[in-house]
Amino acid sequence: MKIVILPGDGIGSETMACTVEALQALSQRFKLDLELQHDIAGHASLQAHGTTVTPALVEKVRAADGLMLGPMATYEFKDEINPSMFFRKTLDLHANIRPARSYPGMEARFGALDLVVVRENTEGFYADRNVESGSSEMLITPDVVISLRRITRHCCERIARSAFELAMTRKKHVSIVHKANVLKIGDGMFIDICREVGREFPQVLVDDFIVDAMMAHVVRAPQRFDVIVTTNMFGDILSDLTAELSGSLGLGGSLNAGANYAMGQAIHGSAPDIAGKNIANPFSSILSAGMLLAWHGQRKGLPAFIEANAAIEQAVATAVEARQVTRDCGGSLGTRETGQAFAARLLAG
Ligand code: ATP
Repeated sequence: MKIVILPGDGIGSETMACTVEALQALSQRFKLDLELQHDIAGHASLQAHGTTVTPALVEKVRAADGLMLGPMATYEFKDEINPSMFFRKTLDLHANIRPARSYPGMEARFGALDLVVVRENTEGFYADRNVESGSSEMLITPDVVISLRRITRHCCERIARSAFELAMTRKKHVSIVHKANVLKIGDGMFIDICREVGREFPQVLVDDFIVDAMMAHVVRAPQRFDVIVTTNMFGDILSDLTAELSGSLGLGGSLNAGANYAMGQAIHGSAPDIAGKNIANPFSSILSAGMLLAWHGQRKGLPAFIEANAAIEQAVATAVEARQVTRDCGGSLGTRETGQAFAARLLAG
């Protein structure tokens, strides 16, 4: 399997270095024959090549079997391409899968949980992916802005299908999250289509929640949820909350998956407040890499890749329980030391 590695901004170089170490250890233990192709995007590419994503990089990514993208400091971009948006859109990675679970030995502040947020990734309230050309956020006068949200049957259908298929492998429960009391047409359509697709999966229990009420429900009783399907912006916000409920934003894995390609990308951003301090938790990035391996394994029928992901999940649980982790999870190790201990654990089996 060829994986392109793009470390990204802020804490990205630190967390991606640990991810590479983990992937090398897994390749050795499970004989995965991984070929890691290192390149740059974002600020590093802007400095070196004058653009955040070069055409040569796009070719390289397309020719590979998967991509690991580090966090991007998108706030600082002006007219530059946002690589995170660019790859999601160009590779049509419609489903952003964001699991969150609690771990033994680490207090889950609001109770145990094991859920997955399935977030639509290619339209919604994201001004940079809704229109063929330009942006769907407009400055009408110096004092008036209009931001448009796009919702289409096609994207609703495919994200609903991803959610129900996932639910069939889990506890068979899908919760639809929306704001149909206000966005009556768009979110009304989203709910209708999710329920329509749900009828093809009669074993799956379906319910729905208004997004604001969902914040209270998920904090009050996160254990009642299994798969949560929602539109782009709601999913982005909700999944940061569920990752934090699991113990830390640094524990949230995330996969951007399409029909023919997938990209692992930690749930968190570039975290400039802790960048360069050797304190960022690398597990979000490592868990995302594991999800990428599992996606490849399922698609190609390669059990070793699925086992490698299971080994990552198990080793994260063991590391968290043993406090061999960064301080956001109650440990005292640095990023580098957490990554080294983790790779050694993976190799030892
Ligand atoms: P960006 O603008 O790139 O989204 P941000 O700082 O606004 O960056 P995040 O990077 O998601 O957003 O960080 C939110 C908070 O969570 C910050 O306080 C950050 O330090 C913390 N955080 C994020 N990632 C990690 C991590 N891997 N380990 C520990 N703390 C993290």
